[in-house]
Amino acid sequence: MTRTYSYKTVEQRFWKRVKKGLSFSCWPWLGTKTKGGYGVVNFKRERTTAHRIAYKLTKGEIPKGYVVMHNCDTRDCCNPRHLRAATQRENLEDMWKKRRQGDYRNFGTANGRCKVTTEQCAEIQQTYKEGWITAEALGKLFGLGQSQILRIVNGESRVKVSRKSLSLKQR
Ligand SMILES: [Zn+2]
Repeated sequence: MTRTYSYKTVEQRFWKRVKKGLSFSCWPWLGTKTKGGYGVVNFKRERTTAHRIAYKLTKGEIPKGYVVMHNCDTRDCCNPRHLRAATQRENLEDMWKKRRQGDYRNFGTANGRCKVTTEQCAEIQQTYKEGWITAEALGKLFGLGQSQILRIVNGESRVKVSRKSLSLKQR
């Protein structure tokens, strides 16, 4: 007899939407994804990312203030072996370091300037919308204030926002 949908637990339904492969390979999410490529899931009335749920189901609660990051850099991967809890800062720094090494030195407040390119604005918007980081924390990473981050997020056009942010450094 095949079991009907309603008999399945939320956990079982979750894993049905993960393409499980070999234990060491990536297990992509088969459901909806965010623009940034993360799996989206509604789990026990919570709308979150698929890899967070994969982590919770296999390793337990995520410590407060921590995000679940991928060791494999595959954003929709739900293989618990590729997931680990890290601070938001650690996660973003890792992400950006890997993606654009040359650029990396320009981040943050080290040179006292706010360098926000159009691309970074898009990144800020996207990251913020994914919901796992506060405007304040994002701001610290980019060397911007919380209000600047929110202005970017609540977007006027990217370029316009970008210019605004740049002009602020002149103060
Ligand atoms: Zn993976």
